[in-house]
Amino acid sequence: MDAEPQPLVDAQGRRVDYLRLSVTDRCDLRCLYCMGTAVRFVPRSEVLSLEELHQVAAGFVALGVRKVRITGGEPLLRRGVLGLARRLGAIEGLEELVMTTNATQLARCARELRAAGVQRLNISLDTLDAERFRRLTGSPRLARVLEGIDAALRVGFTRIRLNTVAMRGRNEDEILPLVDFALARGLDICFIEEMPFGRAPGGNQGEVFMPSEEVRALIEQRYALEGARLRPSGGPSREWQVVGSATRVGFISPHSSCFCPSCNRVRVNAEGLLLPCLGHEGAVDLRSILRAGGEEVTVQGRLQAGIRTALASKPAHHEFAAPESGQPQVIRNMSATGG
Ligand code: SAM
Ligand code: SF4
Repeated sequence: MDAEPQPLVDAQGRRVDYLRLSVTDRCDLRCLYCMGTAVRFVPRSEVLSLEELHQVAAGFVALGVRKVRITGGEPLLRRGVLGLARRLGAIEGLEELVMTTNATQLARCARELRAAGVQRLNISLDTLDAERFRRLTGSPRLARVLEGIDAALRVGFTRIRLNTVAMRGRNEDEILPLVDFALARGLDICFIEEMPFGRAPGGNQGEVFMPSEEVRALIEQRYALEGARLRPSGGPSREWQVVGSATRVGFISPHSSCFCPSCNRVRVNAEGLLLPCLGHEGAVDLRSILRAGGEEVTVQGRLQAGIRTALASKPAHHEFAAPESGQPQVIRNMSATGG
């Protein structure tokens, strides 16, 4: 029998066992902090094929990754994504297959997605107001998103978590209504501090930044929160239980509380760039490795060597803003990174 491969450990000694795999950079929404309207998409020939996405995931799992999150762009817009999910779920050694989605397609495919083996969902939702949704996302489809959430609730995902970017003056008055919404449905909810990425024209505005502590204080005006803890999976979210309910409230605070020392993940974007850190531009091009040809076993060998090389260069912590100017220094936006 083959010896177990050495686990993926970076230069800081952090074990990486979680891959966020972007299956498309396209999206049907234009969230201000993510894309804005002037976004340019990658030509289709440069996007990894379904087969290549599977090869990438298999390479990571062979190196000890146990959790894969399918993301984007909007992952449910990728043709064939359900078949891909089924194939990823069947990779021996993979323990968790999860997805982040904006829910616009869920009313149509929640059941198939669950049947394909996706266990948990994170669903982005910044507002419950249709007009505000239109302003924040450029789309009139809030009702469709809410139907999607209901559909997901009906088909038995293990947990569903809402992701809300908290923005001063844009949705701060909806923080409590969104917690109420989550509580009424037994959902978790996580509030995220906006991260500055260079190409999102509606984002990067210091005046909309809301620190997690302020969001938490606001929630505690109405609800008792207890049992603060880091996620057992080593994620960046700090979580509290809403007393007397099944709902957990989490906070991802890239600015106000650095989670980098416990970082356990890397990202591969839709073009096959392996991004060791969300807050740096450094990347290793897995697509050229995959497309250089050869037997599957040779390709896997090269791929896994590429993954190890990338891991060696994983930075100790993110740096969204240049120290001298304070300007965003990560130019790609989240939809191009794979959120
Ligand atoms: N389209 C899917 C969705 O929206 O859930 C998946 C991809 S999206 C890029 C993943 C997550 O990134 C979303 O929860 C979104 O709110 C978050 N995100 C995007 N840009 C961000 C930014 N500048 N700061 C913080 N979070 C951001
Ligand atoms: Fe699309 Fe998600 Fe980015 Fe919004 S956050 S524009 S839904 S990829």
